[in-house]
Amino acid sequence: MSEPELPPLRDVIARYGLSASKALGQNFLLDAQLLERIAGIPGSLSEEHVFEVGPGPGGLTRAALMAGAKVTAVERDARCLPALIELGKAFPDQLRVVEGDAMQIDPVQEISAPFHILSNLPYNVGTALLVNWLSADKWPPEWKSLTLMFQREVAERIIAQPGGKAYGRLAVLAQWRAKATMPMKVHRSAFTPPPKVMSAVVHIIPNKAPEGVSPRTIGKLTAAAFGQRRKMLRQSLKALSGALDALETVGIDPTRRAETISVDEFVQVAQVLDAGL
Ligand code: SAM
Repeated sequence: MSEPELPPLRDVIARYGLSASKALGQNFLLDAQLLERIAGIPGSLSEEHVFEVGPGPGGLTRAALMAGAKVTAVERDARCLPALIELGKAFPDQLRVVEGDAMQIDPVQEISAPFHILSNLPYNVGTALLVNWLSADKWPPEWKSLTLMFQREVAERIIAQPGGKAYGRLAVLAQWRAKATMPMKVHRSAFTPPPKVMSAVVHIIPNKAPEGVSPRTIGKLTAAAFGQRRKMLRQSLKALSGALDALETVGIDPTRRAETISVDEFVQVAQVLDAGL
């Protein structure tokens, strides 16, 4: 099948008057090669379902459609819809656009088969969306992979290892039952308009979940431990019922600080808490 002729994204932006809104975190990607590389990160998308947050003028959407994906895209900015409808016409039956706030939309309700999540995320809701997707009760979740553009500092927090400043709640939530990598750094000049900071793409795929741990317990434990990250665990976990006993059961010295505790150790503590030992 030959690829449809599409107008340059700059023309789409001009024709539909899509001046970038700061409040909506609009920093558009226009370089077709870069967009193709990002859409290639999850592997072949041919016949795969993709959930995209914030298609904007549709650059990343195009790349996914050209790779053969069936895309469901949620966009909050109504100004983008005519451009996206036009894009959908070039790829019959491949694109469904939902106008709305991605924070209020559960992709599982929108797509009936397992899907990939692909997004150049709006910076103001990116972390909250990630935490929602990582907190699914069902595991493996309905999503097969997450390929997400973040500010580089956030990307580094997601893939961080213990011992450094970047390591915190986000790293544990992203790694306790999934593998998180940063396959691509993206210079700020790649965006229109360029944001103040550098960006990076994070790729996350679900692993087998450890037995006997609920996401709620991991959430509470990491919130308490990293809520006072400079304090010793015996202080930061004092208010979390059973946590100090659980540290002892697992053999973790309570004078350690949260940033020295490995993801595996957090899982062991959560297992003891969930077992009610
Ligand atoms: N995908 C486009 C690209 O890569 O050029 C645009 C990415 S831009 C960083 C973020 C997009 O998310 C914008 O189109 C913005 O309107 C949209 N957006 C912002 N907040 C949103 C929300 N809560 N729900 C859905 N879309 C949102």
